[in-house]
Amino acid sequence: MPGATIGLLGGGQLGRMLAHAGNRLGYRFVTLDPTPDSPCGQTAAQIIASYDDRDAARELAERSDVITYEFENVDADVAAMLEAESYVPQGSKLLYTTQHRLREKRAVEAAGATVAPYAEIVSLNSLQDAVAHLGLPAVLKTATGGYDGKGQWVLREATDLELAWNEASQAGTELVLEQFIKFDKEISVIAARSPSGEVRTFVPAENIHVNNILHLSIVPARVPLGVLAEAERLAVSIAETLGAVGLIAVEMFLTADGQLFVNELAPRPHNSGHYTMEACRTSQFEQHIRAICNLPLGDPSLLTPVVMVNVLGEHMEPLLAWMSKKDDAAEQLGVTPKVHLYGKAEAKHKRKMGHVNVLAPNVDAALEWVSQSPIWRV
Ligand code: AMP
Repeated sequence: MPGATIGLLGGGQLGRMLAHAGNRLGYRFVTLDPTPDSPCGQTAAQIIASYDDRDAARELAERSDVITYEFENVDADVAAMLEAESYVPQGSKLLYTTQHRLREKRAVEAAGATVAPYAEIVSLNSLQDAVAHLGLPAVLKTATGGYDGKGQWVLREATDLELAWNEASQAGTELVLEQFIKFDKEISVIAARSPSGEVRTFVPAENIHVNNILHLSIVPARVPLGVLAEAERLAVSIAETLGAVGLIAVEMFLTADGQLFVNELAPRPHNSGHYTMEACRTSQFEQHIRAICNLPLGDPSLLTPVVMVNVLGEHMEPLLAWMSKKDDAAEQLGVTPKVHLYGKAEAKHKRKMGHVNVLAPNVDAALEWVSQSPIWRV
């Protein structure tokens, strides 16, 4: 109950926004992160240590009533130790499943959802066999550790196989080959499940990536209503089948003929759910806190169309220049851009520094504001 302390493994922006939402409900936070003055450390008590430091993890357990995490690559030993010594309502099984693409795909299939046809790859020979079976183009992925397009090789021609195998086999993890899905749109659905089995979903977002990094989330996704409903139904089924507690984000590809393929799961708040902060009755961050603390889930209804735009390091200068002036274009278009910054000191190229939620009468007005804005020209 409020007054209790929530321990957060990871001190990035997701932790920061969880702490902001939880603070409002009266919870205290302590975060474990190797970086001093991390985004979450600015708003919570901080233990500065590496994620695989067992003593530091034990200290986190001692200081917390409940523990959660803001990234999925939590060291398996640390996760098991925390579970033994503290209360981790999400459990380590959900992490075990989502940390590994092959295990994740099997779990998604068990929930009755479809994934891109795939094969486990253990040798150049098995890669050649899989390509003969699945066809080209195809995507070779490391089973663990990949993010933002890292750990992936797109195979277009037969001559790409050997080079990709040579590089990928150095990664020291299992590999999986996926058929390339010629998708029309990428969408995501965030579901929350509480220990008592209550499940709620947020309205699906349509996601547009630039250089493998999320650029825009458009909500509601511009897809037929039947697809929105089916995407939410699949997310509920996945949350239930996995016995998830807390948030689970489900990324999907939508093809021209209306088929949905599940690409990836994330058992945590997701970048494509940042739009919920102002656009929903309950944000994804509050929902996660409610779920792990076994409070009744909040109403996730969408209050307004919205477009979320990520702010990367290269966007900081124009963003700050824009913030200091009155925005006539926003007024004319009837949109309200809400700025969120994560408190990161160094605006490195491609680093996620913040996001802007553009609340609008319709998504076209929000997209028009984004395209007129000086912030995302670079
Ligand atoms: P992931 O790390 O699995 O989320 O993949 C990163 C991005 O690569 C996705 O958002 C897609 O744009 C693209 N991608 C990954 N897998 C496939 C696939 N099987 N077919 C087509 N595009 C893919």
